[in-house]
Amino acid sequence: MSLFDKYAPLKTRVDMMMKIGKDALGVQFDDIIDATRGRIGNREILLAGTNNYLGLTFDEDCMSAAKKAVDDHGTGTTGSRVANGSYSEHVDLEKALAEHLGMPSCVVFTTGYQTNLAAISGLAGDKDVIFMDADAHACIIDGTRLTGASTIRFRHNNPEDLDKRLKRQGEIEGGNALVVIEGMYSMFGDIAPIDEFLDVTHRYGGYLYIDEAHSYGVFGPTGCGIAEDQGVLDRVDFISGTFSKSLASVGGFCASRHAEFEILRKVMRPYMFTASATPSNICAALAAVEKVKQGDHLRANLNIRAEQLHKGLAEMQYELCAEASPVIAVRRPNEAVAAMEWNWLIENGVYVNLAVPPGTPQSSSLLRISLSAAHTEEDINTILKAFADLKDNQGALMAGMASKLQAAE
Ligand code: PMP
Repeated sequence: MSLFDKYAPLKTRVDMMMKIGKDALGVQFDDIIDATRGRIGNREILLAGTNNYLGLTFDEDCMSAAKKAVDDHGTGTTGSRVANGSYSEHVDLEKALAEHLGMPSCVVFTTGYQTNLAAISGLAGDKDVIFMDADAHACIIDGTRLTGASTIRFRHNNPEDLDKRLKRQGEIEGGNALVVIEGMYSMFGDIAPIDEFLDVTHRYGGYLYIDEAHSYGVFGPTGCGIAEDQGVLDRVDFISGTFSKSLASVGGFCASRHAEFEILRKVMRPYMFTASATPSNICAALAAVEKVKQGDHLRANLNIRAEQLHKGLAEMQYELCAEASPVIAVRRPNEAVAAMEWNWLIENGVYVNLAVPPGTPQSSSLLRISLSAAHTEEDINTILKAFADLKDNQGALMAGMASKLQAAE
């Protein structure tokens, strides 16, 4: 028995994918040309799976902020903020986000993943109970695993089910309820009814934590996210987010309407025991927050493109997992078909995400598209044409898949 034997079933799945084509979870681009174009070998690829919602990765101001940060402060911070101290830009970014969200406290972290690990494990102690949406992202689940708190899952996007479970829980002796949801869910692109979750959570004296990783910058009159879009931002207890999507950088934040959140800087292990975000990441994100605040035109284009793509795919009878949003997930019958089609799309110049269990809701196999404000009408037509051709080539594609799988047996 070797250490690796437990991965035999996974290896079988990976081998199947490799017989069909590329390793979809390990694609290598030879060049990233701009926010919507990459290159693999000699082939230019239209990028439709980057989460680069506002297309700011090549924005002049964000790029020059990052370059200046390297010139001014070097390439790395070489330690945590607790051990090495903060750079003034860490604090500037926290102030900018706190001000944007209208909250008294905001802490920035080195990645979005660490944000949820840190904040959830810091907020929930042994006597608290975490109520988490059934489709919660891996870093929310992992955050709950770092605490002694018990965890209860409620049905996805279902405030009534949360209500039932809070009622069943009853009084939490010596502790509190922390309810964790997301604004827009990353796989299906569906949206939480935040006002209803707030009503239920607060009725039971609990706290509501929303991960707006995919929605900060994208929704709301000033881009604060779904809570702002639904007019309830001032009632939300905690908002977390990432710099790796709309903010075109790497890092994350958690903001709170409770000023006492500041004390958690002294307890959150994924904040205290890891190096702080680099000057270039922080300064790029700081420049991007300004773009978010003034990003109506970006959000308007993003919405138009999302409607265009959703409508076109629906007309072709593709099964879509939610209403139009910057994430459009096309449900496929199984993992092998999805993998085959994913390969076909990339060979035909379009990159989307192949999303398969266990990272997907309902054990679904998805061709997941994420759109950018930098996409043009023509780009969406290119994606639609690729999906139309994919449909037309279905017979040949499936025959090809069967023979590839057979030949490798
Ligand atoms: N929350 C959600 C909902 C996510 O989808 C992700 C990553 N895609 C994260 C948090 C983590 O963010 P990051 O990749 O910036 O670490």
